[in-house]
Amino acid sequence: MKEGLELPPKIISAVRKRKPKPKRVLVHLPAGLAHLAMRISDGLAGTELLFWGEGCYGACDIPHVQARALGCDLVVSVGHSPMRHWNRLAVPTIFVEYFKGRSEDLRIPEISSGSIALVASNQFLHLLKPAKKILEARGKEVFLGKSGVMCSYDGQVTGCDFVAATSVKRKANAVMILGEGDFHSSGLAEACAPLPVYQLDPAQGELKKVEPVKRKKISFLYAKERFGILVSFKPGQEHLALAEAIKRKLESMGKKAVMIAGDAFTPSVRNFSDVQVLITVACPRMFDDDEAYGIPILSAEEVLRALSVGERKKDSFYSQKNS
Ligand code: SF4
Repeated sequence: MKEGLELPPKIISAVRKRKPKPKRVLVHLPAGLAHLAMRISDGLAGTELLFWGEGCYGACDIPHVQARALGCDLVVSVGHSPMRHWNRLAVPTIFVEYFKGRSEDLRIPEISSGSIALVASNQFLHLLKPAKKILEARGKEVFLGKSGVMCSYDGQVTGCDFVAATSVKRKANAVMILGEGDFHSSGLAEACAPLPVYQLDPAQGELKKVEPVKRKKISFLYAKERFGILVSFKPGQEHLALAEAIKRKLESMGKKAVMIAGDAFTPSVRNFSDVQVLITVACPRMFDDDEAYGIPILSAEEVLRALSVGERKKDSFYSQKNS
């Protein structure tokens, strides 16, 4: 069965309830839910709809500036929850969240750890409390931490905000994430090391131990001379002040740096052929695998750690600017 068939009525009702009635609406669907476009369109006949045809990385990625340029007076973001720090979207935006799986189907294989920091990615947040109950019934101590500024709910993590786990990791001897894929879990494993991190995919009922994301070669920071700093204008990824601080710091070390702006970066950034190393202050997960780019790419998190730039708050470099 196709995913998310329950969503169109929710989206249609959310748009219909808006007062005043929106004239033109931009709908932002994740790739896995783009097949819902026709159903949504049928249900909102009489409202002018545009479906965003480019990427949908997360709640950080609302195409609000583009919506304004297209004359839209509402954006509907599907499948993500709003981030706590927002106050600057150019067009009113509503969020229709999407939760996968039912609590009655939840199965958790046994793990030996006695105390667990439990977190979830956005789509599985509704399973946090049922999972806690199952684990506690087995005699485990379970901790749900408060999340950071890139999240909406306690116990939530994104690929750049692991505060819900790191804020309670001292009390735990393992971390469990309800999620799928590696996007959130590999960064979580890095942030929580040396604790073991397990990922439970609730849809499959499979539990696996997660390997931390591979460390980039931070030595490039010292060995190379010419840097490009990637700055995104996505609303949850725009960290221009941070890029400027890193640039100043590099220049104070006698190095050269240019800032390169864009929306979603592709290997075409290699056209800046004078640049020897890229640093991204955009999404830190985009470049976990930089082989496709043919150039070393460091995340701002790694660089901040190495250079002690600014008053970085632990575990979510975005907190530095936004809290
Ligand atoms: S990990 Fe990247 S895509 Fe996910 S919320 Fe953070 S900046 Fe956005």
